[in-house]
Amino acid sequence: MTPEGDKASILIVDDHEENLEAFEAILQDLGQNIVKARSGEEALRRLYHQDFAVILLDVRMPGMDGLETAALIRARPRSRHIPIIFVTAFDDPLERITRGYSIGAVDYIVKPVHPEILRSKVRVFVELFLKTRSLEREVQERRRAEEELRAANRELEAFSYSVSHDLRGPLRAITGFSEILLEEYADKLEGGMGRDCLNRIADGARQMDALIQDLLTFSRLGRDRIELTEVDPAEVLSESIARVEVGQADIAIQGPFAPLRANRVLLTQVFYNLISNAVKFVPPGVRPVVRIRSERHGERVRIWVEDNGIGIAPEYHDRIFRVFERLNPSSGYPGTGIGLAIVRRAMERMGGKVGLESSPGQGSRFWIELPAASAPKTDPRPQR
Ligand code: ADP
Repeated sequence: MTPEGDKASILIVDDHEENLEAFEAILQDLGQNIVKARSGEEALRRLYHQDFAVILLDVRMPGMDGLETAALIRARPRSRHIPIIFVTAFDDPLERITRGYSIGAVDYIVKPVHPEILRSKVRVFVELFLKTRSLEREVQERRRAEEELRAANRELEAFSYSVSHDLRGPLRAITGFSEILLEEYADKLEGGMGRDCLNRIADGARQMDALIQDLLTFSRLGRDRIELTEVDPAEVLSESIARVEVGQADIAIQGPFAPLRANRVLLTQVFYNLISNAVKFVPPGVRPVVRIRSERHGERVRIWVEDNGIGIAPEYHDRIFRVFERLNPSSGYPGTGIGLAIVRRAMERMGGKVGLESSPGQGSRFWIELPAASAPKTDPRPQR
């Protein structure tokens, strides 16, 4: 048995008690609440307080007849969408029935009613009502869960932001004092393990600082407002490359590049991370060769950053964009595992996408896609 509150309600409106009872007896099998009203006025009162799956409305009633009642039901926002089945007498003129439809009846049934036909017609609306209600509840439940998740995420980000921020203070002290020791007490450190230990402390502190900086960048990306403007990719690329430690790498920028709608600071960071990886993940002894080119896809522009590095197996293509995912942690490639997570989040904030084509030993071809500056404006994806 469904609890009373989970049942649908059916409203029967008829001025004859014996009709009400007959309808009730027929519809009882459906296992729902049946509410009876003896006049149009009473029906309207009931509708004021309660929601119904369907209304069975007698057309011929003294005082306010079925058609007038239906017109008033349709006029009220609360009851506007409740399906109405008119109950007519077999000698009711056709004109009455068609008027019923024009007022908003969804169906009609002729007296004397056939029990199984009446039950089937009403059952359809009851099922529709129950399904709609359960869908509405699901949607509400999902909305609530999403809101909770968003709040928890916000809290977590604020927490990691402040922790990261506070960690930088003591870290600066460690780096600073180990540098002083290395510079001022160099003579006392010679010959023993002292210098080696201190160098390791300084390296560890530098690595931790890079990690904290990346975490701060990542969490700021989720919170700060961003503005999109027209950006020339060629300019942004040269700014990014100027910051990368390119060493012996051969970097070819193959223009022209169509102007994009993007955020300049974020795009510089995106290219910086992709190009740093492209020159970093090469097998030992191989000179990195990086090619950057662009393709037009309708209103969007795709820019490729291609390398001749170690490549990435397809099963990791999604994983590498998550925070702290590093495929070669013990192979001597430095890093924090946050670079590509920053790239993905930055691209999402700008309403763009990122992806790659790669397999081991075949190099990697990362791409980013953004709207061309000339494309009609649409809002970038809302924040998470
Ligand atoms: P990291 O700080 O380690 O570079 P990223 O988030 O930038 O972190 O990248 C995650 C992982 O994806 C890397 O550790 C590496 O295993 C893989 N990766 C990223 N870019 C490349 C590339 N161009 N070639 C090969 N592997 C790559």
